[in-house]
Amino acid sequence: MDRRLALKKQIIEVGIQLLRNGLVAGTGGNISARLPDMEYFYITPSGMAYESLQPDDIVGIDYNGDLVEGTRKPSIECMMHASILRARPDVGAVVHTHSLYATAVASAHLPIPAFLETVIATNKSEIKVAEYAPAGSQELAENALRTLGEDSAVLLANHGVVGVGRDLAQAVRVCETVEKAAMVFLMSRIVGGPIPIPTELIARQVEFFKTRYGQKQ
Ligand code: 13P
Ligand code: ZN
Repeated sequence: MDRRLALKKQIIEVGIQLLRNGLVAGTGGNISARLPDMEYFYITPSGMAYESLQPDDIVGIDYNGDLVEGTRKPSIECMMHASILRARPDVGAVVHTHSLYATAVASAHLPIPAFLETVIATNKSEIKVAEYAPAGSQELAENALRTLGEDSAVLLANHGVVGVGRDLAQAVRVCETVEKAAMVFLMSRIVGGPIPIPTELIARQVEFFKTRYGQKQ
């Protein structure tokens, strides 16, 4: 199958997966992805039910937000996706969700500290909160990019989560990890925690995940 068509289908599958796993509701959230040889990227259309999407509904836009493929209106967050993809050559996919626990933490403007190994494996440090700006605004795109920096995840104040990855599977995993960490973070606060992992041990753990975790020899 044509690689671009396959990518569009994968974006739709990810949308349905986010919906079924409760990371988004209704038409909330959005997904973008690109192939290494593409000069533009694919993104979900605005306000359309994930389960109704067909490959032709996925639009291609360039890094100025101009439509280059398809006819649908792109997600209102297209400039947030464009600015991240433009600034981060290591990123192949961006996923934005409204998952419940992460949005609760983001609404309190609380960063999620590096208190879990999964947070460290994902972000190397705490998950920061981008300053509030209205959904779909250029200001939100700038705040999200600035706060994300070289990280894999950022919380959007009073709104949700952005996770990035080398591909769609990795970006989804980041969003799932953030949601789980936010849930544990909130529960831990009830019992007086969480207690951060000591900084010197974070570096050791990051190195471990990079060099030894999984099937690495
Ligand atoms: P879109 O349907 O335009 O992608 O908007 C959903 C959303 O989450 C806005 O932040
Ligand atoms: Zn949103």
